[in-house]
Parts: sequence; structure tokens; C-alpha cells
Amino acid sequence: MKKQPVIAIDGYSSTGKSSISKIIAQRLGLIHIDTGALYRGVTYYALKNCKKNDGSIDLNQLFKELENLSLEFSEQNQTLRLTLNGQDISQEIRKSEIADHVSFIAKQPEVRHFLLDTQRRMAKHHGVVMDGRDIGTVVLPNADYKFFLTASVEERTKRRHLELLTMGESIDAETVKKNLIERDRIDSQREIAPLKQADDAILIDNSLLSKEETIELLLSYLTPPEVVQL
Ligand code: C5P
Repeated sequence: MKKQPVIAIDGYSSTGKSSISKIIAQRLGLIHIDTGALYRGVTYYALKNCKKNDGSIDLNQLFKELENLSLEFSEQNQTLRLTLNGQDISQEIRKSEIADHVSFIAKQPEVRHFLLDTQRRMAKHHGVVMDGRDIGTVVLPNADYKFFLTASVEERTKRRHLELLTMGESIDAETVKKNLIERDRIDSQREIAPLKQADDAILIDNSLLSKEETIELLLSYLTPPEVVQL
């Protein structure tokens, strides 16, 4: 039997990585792992359980409690759900409060180390489409295909703003833009596993492409018969 492909999709915030990865995984019959959701899950836990009296996050407490965290993906009606110790947190992790803190949590070596194991365990024995920031460089450096997505900050702001408004958050576009720029800055400048294009990744700028066009472009790089014709 042919080995199933391992596909790494990295890139900047709100370039559509997760929704594109999900469809590509469906088309290829692979599992999809949205690693950003895992970092958001740890952030959710920290904000709920590891606060100091002054409201800041108690990192030492979080590091001590990491081993008690069980993050699991499951699929329900074709959507990826994330549970934290059995509680479905798929909606909560999309909120802007999480987005405001996630890059701070994600730059902590203890958190990255903890989630590296989780991610590699999830990808073991499967063909997979995994999306994130350091998949092609650190998590799955031997992936069969690597893509790096980018788009103009204006386009990304529009997409993310619409997503938050659809979820019922009242937030202005300028605040969304600031969060994207700040997250990209922290993610690119951190010491461990920074956001960057792997040397052997294919760069895709989808500022002027729809989601469907981006998916078709990515699929066009795969060698048949990996692409299932629908
Ligand atoms: O992909 P998403 O926007 O949900 O990711 C949220 C945050 O999680 C990123 O801004 C980044 O700080 C962190 N992240 C990471 N490494 C990954 C995936 C996400 O540091 N592989």
C-alpha cells in the first residue's frame, strides 16, 4: 500500500491555513491537525486556572500543571472539535481574549516542548495535514510537502474581522489588525521555533485568491494519485 503523505502548512495569522488544511485533508482522506488550536487550548487553560491576584498569568503554575492537560481532537459533522480534559472548548478558543494572549503563551519553551510531543504523537502512523507556524521547520521537518501561506495584512484583517463578527463579537477592524500584526511579530521573533518559511516550502500568497483557488493551487503541487477527484 502506498504511504499516505504528510503535509505541513505554515504561515501568517489569518491566511486561511486551518480551513484550507481541513478541506485538503478531506480531499486526500487524511487527518487534519490544527496546531494553533492546541496553543489556544493551553492559553484557555492558563486564563481560567493560572491567574495571579493582579490578573496576570502565573507561568510557573501553568508549567507545573501542563502534564495534567489532555487535549484531544475529534470530528463532529465534519468539523474539528477540541476538548480539554473532556470539555469541548472549540468555540471558546476562537475568542479575541485568547488571541490577545496566545503568542505570549506560545513563546514559552515549556509550552512548546509539551505540545511538540502532543503534535508528533498525533501525527504518528497517519498521513496528515498539519497546520501551524513551525510544522515544516520543527514539528515535521521530513514532511512530504511543505507550504507557507502569506497574504496582505489588509486582506487578513478583513477575513479575521468577518470571522469574529460572525461569532457575535463586537470588535473594530483596527483592533483586529493590531492583534494580527502583534501576533506575527511575537511569533516571528521568539527564540524557539519561530514562525518562518522552511527552505524547502512552497510560498503561496493568497491575497488575491479565494479559499477554493488556494486549495486548487496547493493540490496542483501534489503528485497524483494523492489527489482524489471529487
Ligand atoms: O493558527 P492560530 O492563529 O490559531 O494560532 C494561534 C497562535 O498559536 C499563533 O499566533 C502562535 O502564537 C501559536 N502557534 C505556534 N505554533 C504553531 C501554531 C500556533 O506558536 N505551530
